[in-house]
Amino acid sequence: MAPARSAHNGAMRNLLTWFLFCAVVVSGQVTKTKWAIAVHGGAGESEWQHMDRATEAAYQASLSRALSEGAATLSHGGKALDAVEAAIKVLEDDPLFSAGRGSAFNDQGKNEMDASIMDGSTLAAGSVAGVCCTKNPISAARAVMERSPYVMIAGPGADQFAVKQGLAQMPASYFFTEMRWQELVGVLKQSGKPIPARPPGVPKEPKSAIQIGASAGHFGTVGVVARDVRGNLSAGTSTGGMQGKAPGRVGDSPVIGAGTYAANKSCAVSSTGVGEYFIRLAVAKEICSLVEYKGMSIAEAARFVIEHEVASLKGGEGGVIVLDQKSEAVWSFNTLGMFRARQAEGGAAEVRVVGK
Ligand code: ASP
Repeated sequence: MAPARSAHNGAMRNLLTWFLFCAVVVSGQVTKTKWAIAVHGGAGESEWQHMDRATEAAYQASLSRALSEGAATLSHGGKALDAVEAAIKVLEDDPLFSAGRGSAFNDQGKNEMDASIMDGSTLAAGSVAGVCCTKNPISAARAVMERSPYVMIAGPGADQFAVKQGLAQMPASYFFTEMRWQELVGVLKQSGKPIPARPPGVPKEPKSAIQIGASAGHFGTVGVVARDVRGNLSAGTSTGGMQGKAPGRVGDSPVIGAGTYAANKSCAVSSTGVGEYFIRLAVAKEICSLVEYKGMSIAEAARFVIEHEVASLKGGEGGVIVLDQKSEAVWSFNTLGMFRARQAEGGAAEVRVVGK
């Protein structure tokens, strides 16, 4: 198509979208297009067995920050996709979570991070797996979706792609946290594996105290689902993966349909837990399919998949956050706890660190 013609068509499309949006607003259907968002910061067991007040307050503050970043985008008329990316970046930059800075390590002491994002309005999706150095893996996933013909790019090629897209790269010392390293040491000792050397650029000796919640079995993946005022859904997930994993192991987080799924006609889902089970059950898509084809509510579908399907497989544990076109957000998990938060237009923010 000639460039002038395609620019004209693009302008007409934008004008039409704007007219449709105004028509919805003017016809008084604003309440039907409420924005909503939900955030998770991982699900697990041992973290919640020893949760003290300081740890609880720290997670509470971090989740609130991410929620309000996403809510601010949505309340200003921003896209669900932008809200998902913005809120996940807050959590990736926060060393408390195992995503971006603060990520878990493989059994060689290296970071291999995974992330994915999906646009429910077009079913476009993008993901990266095994990135070592990209500061915000969720932005790399979005770049794969919007600026490549692919859905997933893995390994060194994914970091190289991120570099070409102008995304910030960081040394291993940036991603390192003492808390997560001590967690790795615990996991490797338990399985009788050798302890690798500490990454270059970090202090040779452990700092005096592990700051918050060091305990094997803690997950810490992050995820966000959002709905914007245009009625578009989006979902995204980012993780350092399972602590002490084999090099090259890829979990559910970058797998579209397992860790992340969004479709305007059903729902948006982000998962966390032992990824192998979530891949085998295609958890995120399974929930959306139950909503679409069986007419289940998102609460019923999420509960069925987590408490029945995932829990019925030995070792299957984790949780999901789910959002639908009614701007309702639900969560379901079969672990002791899950870091989670939600807010819908006109309502108060709800942030939950402990309790079911
Ligand atoms: N699902 C992630 C993985 O298997 C881990 C997590 O959610 O904490 O890599």
